[in-house]
Amino acid sequence: MERRRVGILGATGMVGQRFIQLLSNHPWFEIAWLAASDRSAGKTYAEACKWKLDTPLPKRIAAMTLQPNVPEGSAIELPKIIFAALDADIARELEPKFAEAGCAVISNSSAFRMAADVPLVVPEVNADHLALLETQSWRKEHGGRGGYIVTNPNCSAIGLVLALKPLEERFGIESLFVSTMQAVSGAGYPGVASLDILGNVVPFIKNEEEKLQEEVGKLLGERKGSKIELLDAKVSAHCNRVAVEDGHTECVSIKLKKKATREEILAAWSEFLPLEGQHLPTAPEQPVEYDEGVDRPQPRLDRMRGHGMAATVGRLRECTLLDWKFVVLSHNTIRGAAGAAVLNAEVLALLGKLDKLGVPLERFSARAVAVTA
Ligand code: NAP
Repeated sequence: MERRRVGILGATGMVGQRFIQLLSNHPWFEIAWLAASDRSAGKTYAEACKWKLDTPLPKRIAAMTLQPNVPEGSAIELPKIIFAALDADIARELEPKFAEAGCAVISNSSAFRMAADVPLVVPEVNADHLALLETQSWRKEHGGRGGYIVTNPNCSAIGLVLALKPLEERFGIESLFVSTMQAVSGAGYPGVASLDILGNVVPFIKNEEEKLQEEVGKLLGERKGSKIELLDAKVSAHCNRVAVEDGHTECVSIKLKKKATREEILAAWSEFLPLEGQHLPTAPEQPVEYDEGVDRPQPRLDRMRGHGMAATVGRLRECTLLDWKFVVLSHNTIRGAAGAAVLNAEVLALLGKLDKLGVPLERFSARAVAVTA
């Protein structure tokens, strides 16, 4: 099968580097275009990027020239699929330009996550929300060239909703308390100053608690036609930065609408296989893995489960305030960012939503969204 050409916006950052790593040998996609800030445009990737990953920078990528970060003016043809890893303020300005130019923009940033017509998607949890794409203003108002924006959630929200979805499905969620311990790579590069974080915990990450609370509501919300009805549950989050390189750990207490036993909860997690049989290259075999160890999950030991795409849950026990409590861990730049976006792109490919980009909208006949959790 011929691989689809893709581009990466924000290619030199922490998430951009993960995109390069995950897409370099991808069976369906081929990196054809890279861009970052104006400071980097015109340089080779190797000159512009401080490569921070523990696999070598692929030679072909190192030699590629960073293009201007706008749809026009590239020395090479602009791909129709753009993975975006930009800060929210920059994404707010640049992502619509690419959508208007007929690209599928598969975004990591918070800029449009809560917009009513933008799907906020974790494929195992709410792939049916992709139906919102049909109503997107960028498609209708700008000549209908088939472009759109799809987002994946905040890095803490992803691991959390993977653990919550099976519980919401079987028992319903009434309220939830979550306290996070988030890795430094979540702040990008160079991120948090070493003098602020070494031997320390910082109990504040700007806007993070608000994002986590509202995104859980949308992700677990129900699609009614072209609208998402937010989950009717109280969610309270504390977010902390800790001196861990990669992997966000979250302590969760939960009150369920219907009483559940320990065995029923464990079964809900182990039987949660919504993408089974779809053969998506980046999907983990077991999206939620339960570890019986008394002191697990731990970031260093468990973040790479499912090639960094699984959420590991452990320490399920009764809670004296709510019903149950447990710990969940996921890799923040793989499952929580680049891997999440690549999986979104694979689902879009499966649904035929990457086929008619850049052509007039009336010729775009999308297959119905069939993959549902
Ligand atoms: P980062 O390491 O700071 O990288 C930022 C990237 O944006 C770099 O490639 C940078 O290019 C580029 N950039 C800066 N200014 C630009 C401009 N004016 N125009 C175009 N490109 C510009 O950040 P990150 O951690 O990769 O995060 C990227 C996005 O993903 C953020 O929205 C973040 O919230 C989100 N996210 C991050 C994580 C995580 O765990 N890190 C998880 C989920 C979501 P230069 O090298 O040229 O400056």
